[in-house]
Amino acid sequence: MNFLEERIIRDGEVRPGQVLKVDGFLNHQMDVALLEEIGREFKRRFGHKRITKVLTIEASGIGIACFAAREFGVPMVFAKKSKSLNVGSDVYMAEVESFTHGNRNQVIVSRKYLSGEDRLLIIDDFLANGSALQGLIAIAEAAGASVEGLGIVIEKGFQPGGKLIRERGFDLQSLAIVDAMDEETGEITFRRQE
Ligand code: 5GP
Repeated sequence: MNFLEERIIRDGEVRPGQVLKVDGFLNHQMDVALLEEIGREFKRRFGHKRITKVLTIEASGIGIACFAAREFGVPMVFAKKSKSLNVGSDVYMAEVESFTHGNRNQVIVSRKYLSGEDRLLIIDDFLANGSALQGLIAIAEAAGASVEGLGIVIEKGFQPGGKLIRERGFDLQSLAIVDAMDEETGEITFRRQE
């Protein structure tokens, strides 16, 4: 078991609706030493690639993406959820369906901060159905930037997002992949990874 799987077993809670709650170290209170280790692990996995920016989505991706960006020595850009219906032409926009809130959001990134020269590492906390990542990939594509890799902290392997994105040929790496979780007993089963 790796450092993250150990922490999930210790502090994660299985909630109804296939939700894993990790508020104690990732999504509400943040264990910054753990985030630093996560950042180092992404560097270990993607360090052979030339990355010019780290891209994530607000809010829960931001802390993690900061630590990854620090490791690579590059800026971090996050997609903002936009309330305005008429977003200007000065932004890249994608529609993202929120797994945890069940609504749709427009997410935007200013054209100032992404360009065709960029080589991106996309980071997020969770991967479920893949809507957040697909939205970020769409924004990267609209900017003409290349997606060099996608790094996820916790992938729920029993939901379709991971398979969809790997089938598109992207280099997607998840530090922990949960293959099953039992609401009744709280038992969590991880996929074996080398
Ligand atoms: P997707 O777009 O892949 O369906 O869902 C990913 C997003 O939903 C992540 O950005 C994350 O914020 C949220 N999410 C999805 N599943 C879970 C979960 O089990 N626990 C938590 N805490 N967040 C989740």
